[in-house]
Amino acid sequence: MRRFNIIEPRSIDDACEILAEDEDAKLIGGGTALLILIKHGILLPQTLVNLKKINDAAEITFDSTSGLRVGGLASIYDVESAPAVREHYPLLGKACHVVANIRIRNMATIAGNLAHADSQSDPPTALVAFDASVELSKRDGKRSVKLADFLIGSYETVLARDEILTAVLVPPPRTNLTGTYLKFTTRSSEDRPCAGVAAWVCPANGTAGEARVVVGAVSPAPVVLSEPLATGQSLTADMIAEISRKAAAAVDPIDDLRGPADYKRQLVQVLVRRALNECVTD
Ligand SMILES: Cc1cc2nc3c(=O)[nH]c(=O)nc-3n(C[C@H](O)[C@H](O)[C@H](O)COP(=O)(O)OP(=O)(O)OC[C@H]3O[C@@H](n4cnc5c(N)ncnc54)[C@H](O)[C@@H]3O)c2cc1C
Repeated sequence: MRRFNIIEPRSIDDACEILAEDEDAKLIGGGTALLILIKHGILLPQTLVNLKKINDAAEITFDSTSGLRVGGLASIYDVESAPAVREHYPLLGKACHVVANIRIRNMATIAGNLAHADSQSDPPTALVAFDASVELSKRDGKRSVKLADFLIGSYETVLARDEILTAVLVPPPRTNLTGTYLKFTTRSSEDRPCAGVAAWVCPANGTAGEARVVVGAVSPAPVVLSEPLATGQSLTADMIAEISRKAAAAVDPIDDLRGPADYKRQLVQVLVRRALNECVTD
């Protein structure tokens, strides 16, 4: 086994300083993805910067005007069990609850999940459905990037080498929104998704109405479809069938261990239909 140094900064500023000074330093959150890459020799960092000792970096706060702020170091379990998530963003809680198993969810951080950017993941699909952004911090300051622009491909993001994903920011929930997250696995119930669908419906109510679907795991990044709803208009069975067909046409699945591409395309059509039906009958 190769030797490496572990540094444990006590603040985000200190962690940013280390990244700015050491080009070989690699961040570690829960380690559930990174340690596998190190074990297989795919990544061989000389210095690991363990973020888990930083106080307050896992805090989850909610405010009805600014929305939800999830500290990057929050575990996936912290997110699914946060009262604000359960009350205002149950769709997000559902997507976090179906990640792997409780041992992984306790270790894995939300920032690690998003920064790793494995396309076969659950939380990004739900967060994109809510127009979430990520806060990226470095020595010289911070920027905020829409998650949909942050995830640019399979294992590809716009994160710079010296940046830390310090928070996920979710806009305030719309009133009267009903949503769900459906995941389908083909190998075991704890597996990564073969396909995942986040869907919500919000009738026109002073603000513009919309039905939105985000499909994950079957394209390099989540695919978003949106259908405007006029005042008094609800989603009909025909509209649901049409959105399901469009979703199946919009994704770009590949043949892999979780199933052939054609199968996944059909699966998307079924999952989108089920998810939207669940939203309108809730
Ligand atoms: C058996 C198993 C089953 C799984 N099943 C699922 C599943 O069903 N659904 C699903 O969505 N995921 C699944 N996963 C993936 C899991 O969710 C990710 O491994 C995890 O979220 C990564 O988080 P982490 O904190 O452990 O990241 P780490 O392993 O610590 O880091 C991952 C990457 O992110 C970088 N990084 C970490 N933190 C930061 C930060 N704050 N800022 C910038 N970069 C950072 C690291 O440098 C590294 O490149 C599974 C993983 C395993 C091992």
